[in-house]
Amino acid sequence: MTPSTPTVAVIGAGTMGHGIAYVSALAGCRVCMTDANPEQLARGVGQIARAFEKAIEKGKCTAAQRDAALVRLTAAPTAEECAGDATIVIEAIPERLDLKQRLFASLERVVPADALLASNTSSLSITQIARPLSAPERVLGMHFFNPVPVMKLLEIVRGNATDDGAVARARAFAALVGKQAIVVLDTPGFATSRLGVVLGLEAIRMLEQGVASAADIDRAMELGYNHPMGPLRLTDVVGLDVRLAIAEHLHDTLHDDTYRPPQLLRDKVARGELGKKSGQGFHTWETEP
Ligand code: NAD
Repeated sequence: MTPSTPTVAVIGAGTMGHGIAYVSALAGCRVCMTDANPEQLARGVGQIARAFEKAIEKGKCTAAQRDAALVRLTAAPTAEECAGDATIVIEAIPERLDLKQRLFASLERVVPADALLASNTSSLSITQIARPLSAPERVLGMHFFNPVPVMKLLEIVRGNATDDGAVARARAFAALVGKQAIVVLDTPGFATSRLGVVLGLEAIRMLEQGVASAADIDRAMELGYNHPMGPLRLTDVVGLDVRLAIAEHLHDTLHDDTYRPPQLLRDKVARGELGKKSGQGFHTWETEP
């Protein structure tokens, strides 16, 4: 570890949080991870251990690298304990503005004065997340993609108050964890979700209208357009609840019916069919322990 290697706090150990903690620890950072739900925190720690096993099997990491990374990785029961000495805090809690504002407001009192506060939000305004804070210049979006160890992009979102130094440090962090960065203005859905969600929602509408089965709609884009994963399978991987929250936010802010959540998406979320993480979405998945 070099003196400038960040100390990272990851808040939320779900689909994204455990992946962000994994790549950060593998890159040499000290990492603390927390979750409001102790069971999810334990599950996230287990998922990280399995990710290391997979990486070793694929020859992407050695057992010695895994052992060193696991020594750097800790878990804490609260966000405040987790982030006390962090130089970069990355939150990956649910896609709700009030939750993210409240979290950063409580963390700004305990983190070092120069710590970055980064949100993994898929669509919410960084400017609004930062608005209640006394130092909004250190807040920015660090939007990772799912699964974090595999996906190469880090979308850095610059809020109205974010300063150049924060963006430069986020770029350096992206390079450290092996991601390619793009820098995007703080607009609803940024560059990625604003485009990607359109395809996912339209695929759900096509399924509602009986155009084809879920498997065939996915195959259409995989085989016909060379997408690595069809839009319904991707919605399952993202989480139907996460996609619904993003679509609602984009519909409210862009005032465009393209983003209106289809009834089928609402119904599935209400039934707890959240995709890969619950075992059932548009497809059926084996659930992880
Ligand atoms: P998730 O539901 O899998 O995990 C969220 C976790 O946050 C849960 O384990 C929950 O217990 C925990 N949590 C809730 N409130 C908390 C709090 N106050 N403090 C600590 N932990 C808390 O969600 P996810 O899919 O990992 O999404 C997290 C964020 O990342 C969202 O903003 C989402 O839009 C964004 N995102 C998701 C994806 C994706 O593919 N799922 C991709 C990019 C970005």
